[in-house]
Amino acid sequence: MPRPLLATIHIAALRHNLARARQAAPDAQAWAVVKANAYGHGIERVFEGLRGADGFALLDLSEAERVRALGWRGPILLLEGAFEARDLELCSRLHLWHTVHCDEQIDMLALHKTHEPHRVFLKMNSGMNRLGFSPQRYRSAWTRLNALPQVDEISLITHFSDADGPKGIAAQMALFEEATRDLPGERSVSNSAATLRHAHDAAVKADWIRPGIAVYGSAPDFPEHTAAHWGLQPAMSLNAKIIAVQHIEVGDSVGYGSSFVADKPQRIGVVACGYADGYPRICPTGTPVLVDGVRGRTVGRVSMDMLTVDLTNLPYAGVGSTVTLWGKASEGTVLSIDEVAQAAGTVGYELMCALAQRVPVVVED
Ligand SMILES: *Cc1c(COP(=O)(O)O)cnc(C)c1O
Repeated sequence: MPRPLLATIHIAALRHNLARARQAAPDAQAWAVVKANAYGHGIERVFEGLRGADGFALLDLSEAERVRALGWRGPILLLEGAFEARDLELCSRLHLWHTVHCDEQIDMLALHKTHEPHRVFLKMNSGMNRLGFSPQRYRSAWTRLNALPQVDEISLITHFSDADGPKGIAAQMALFEEATRDLPGERSVSNSAATLRHAHDAAVKADWIRPGIAVYGSAPDFPEHTAAHWGLQPAMSLNAKIIAVQHIEVGDSVGYGSSFVADKPQRIGVVACGYADGYPRICPTGTPVLVDGVRGRTVGRVSMDMLTVDLTNLPYAGVGSTVTLWGKASEGTVLSIDEVAQAAGTVGYELMCALAQRVPVVVED
């Protein structure tokens, strides 16, 4: 028997979450962001659930090839554009739309030989200070691009630093609007947080939304809002089984470093999931789990292949019981990946992206 640990990708949840994002911006087209191997879910596995999107956004050229290999003929956007000149050959061959965020990328385009001109997304750095032309330099970049025979259509794109928090998007949006006011072209500004939190803002709806995390069922602004608040469903569940039970007495410890010491007699379940599976080692005693669908907690340190949970108040649980590390239990109860991420001091994004290669994955409708 294989080790009892399994990740499940929920196609219906992906479909539902994409519909939720669309509902927030009903007039916009939607990129499904599938970078980082669809946030750890697997591009090939999520494709069926997300093929209702208007396009796929990603940044690895090999991932763009995988989306084309799935038979997708619609738009694909490279969020970071070309890294070197020969990437543009692939853009021509696979009809990839690509971001242009720096002068060097315009230089490459100017030297590129192509029969069909490209559609590009000109990126403005409106305050994130990672990629893009400053508002002052944006127009000259647009003019330079517009003069190139290699360029067909120019769309306008920027990215928010604080769409999920109190600072919000107003300042960046004002800069973007001011610098693009009389420029033609479609616009794309909103990630998941902007799409869900600022849906009332007419300017934000723009022409193309770019939801990533929401599509995978995690709240972009947890803990202010939960996935349930936004009507999102987990697209990934990680379930393991209890493979051993220990009865411990007052003063006994559990696991490496004896970080947990019992102050009463306890039953401890040993679960077939550890940090080599992508479960964060840093999760402390008390991190939530579901045991046969009932909420419980971890105790002691997470080891490479196992972790331990408290079964003292779960008398029916034992060897063979299912422990949901995140996502949906077969009983229907849900443990949001955001809660586990919070216990680890991080965000749902990091946990889903870190699902380890050795974990078997099934796709379920
Ligand atoms: C990753 C990414 C997104 C999606 O962000 P989420 O927070 O996952 O919705 C959107 N736009 C760009 C440019 C990105 O890199």
